[in-house]
Amino acid sequence: MGVVADEPKYPTQVVSREYERANALTTCPVCGGAAFGWLTLPDPSTNPTVGQLAEVDRVIDLCEECGAGVERGYGSVDAAAELREATVDGVAPNRASWQAWIGGDSWSRLFGWKGHLLFTPKAVARIETGRADAPKARTAPSYLAMWQTLINALTFNTNFASRVRSGELGPSKPGARGTAAFWVDAMVTVLASPLTGLAALVVESLALLFNRGGVIMTSSKR
Ligand SMILES: [Zn+2]
Repeated sequence: MGVVADEPKYPTQVVSREYERANALTTCPVCGGAAFGWLTLPDPSTNPTVGQLAEVDRVIDLCEECGAGVERGYGSVDAAAELREATVDGVAPNRASWQAWIGGDSWSRLFGWKGHLLFTPKAVARIETGRADAPKARTAPSYLAMWQTLINALTFNTNFASRVRSGELGPSKPGARGTAAFWVDAMVTVLASPLTGLAALVVESLALLFNRGGVIMTSSKR
């Protein structure tokens, strides 16, 4: 007995958009496109970065048309309000940036992210103009976020340096990973800073050339 392949329900060319939308896990609130699984974010209290399994807290789908990241279960949120909320000092994190691509679930911007949408230059232009064919919004560099993303690959605690600076982590409150991990992270951060700092400068500058900087310049006001 051989294996009989299922007949396609529609001719391939017609299938794509209609079939995708019908089977998408999430519908993009920016453009109505189909969004499929991109990554999962763990429960922040477990805060894993290096090869540990954790409870999945949130699932982020990726729109195949405008590239926006959409938290599963939030396909009908107000995209313009989300953009206003995500905009700080005229810029919003860029889901289509090199730092997001390099970092994946270690992208520094995902830690503590409270919104439900992650924007791209294409998505921002669409929200701001209401036109699907609007030219993409421009991006700007975010060297610190790139550096933190690179360091995240080496530390147990995500965004270790900025959390120490904010007082969230410290010798007397080492976080969910414990005291040993805290001191290892402190050592790794200090030792790796010169090289990762230089790498962040170079890579983020290159990203900007391709309009893939860490943040998108928006006209939204908070
Ligand atoms: Zn979309």
